[in-house]
Amino acid sequence: MTAPKALVAGNWKMNGLKSAAAEITKLNDLIDDNGAMCDVLICPSFTLISTLCDLNADHVAIGAQDCHANASGAHTGDISAAMIKDLGCGHIIVGHSERRADHGESNDTVKAKAIAVQKSGLMAIICVGETIEERKAGEALNVVTNQVRASIPGDAVIENTIIAYEPVWAIGSGLTPTAADVEEVHKAVRDVLIERFGVGGSQINILYGGSVKASNAHELMSVPNVNGALVGGASLKADDFYGIISAYDQIG
Ligand code: PEP
Repeated sequence: MTAPKALVAGNWKMNGLKSAAAEITKLNDLIDDNGAMCDVLICPSFTLISTLCDLNADHVAIGAQDCHANASGAHTGDISAAMIKDLGCGHIIVGHSERRADHGESNDTVKAKAIAVQKSGLMAIICVGETIEERKAGEALNVVTNQVRASIPGDAVIENTIIAYEPVWAIGSGLTPTAADVEEVHKAVRDVLIERFGVGGSQINILYGGSVKASNAHELMSVPNVNGALVGGASLKADDFYGIISAYDQIG
């Protein structure tokens, strides 16, 4: 079993119209011209998935930001993992803190969605992270490791699971934890993965997310057990996002 490459993934959230396809073309051209030492993924809104997949950008995979836990049925307005796969996606983010907060998604819901993603043969990017109150109370490690235990399906392997540690207070705020804090949490997540999945758990990618930008990417991506980034704001523009991707030129 070979460890997967690092992944730099962009979460466009509720941003982007069809004209944003130009950013994918530009990003693909940047990678074509200058290379990338990591895998690259963009997760746009559902409305853009088809347009972006149809670009067939060979260096930029397209994924989704959420899915329903059921494969089909009477769930007006929802989208299943099979529908997302049908468009050409390979990854689906589940349990982003904005969904946990805005839609009341519990660890059980996130786990059910992750199972649906895995059953469809896709990669679940499962998000975890503490609030500022939890960090100030010294509870960050407990909260995150509990989320990892409760949100990850029992048969996680490198082919179907990626974890994203995203401190809620770092998302969109311009704030980041210190490298030492990131290292501590990623090590704790790694320990849980190894405890549950043995050697396979030692190879599951753990992304860091929260105000990653070109200027801090090298420091954050060099932290032990950080195997890539989940990026919001700085993924919207190809030049900014490529600045993060190219941090891997020095990391390898
Ligand atoms: C995110 O949306 O997952 C995220 C990390 O956002 P930002 O990079 O803007 O903090």
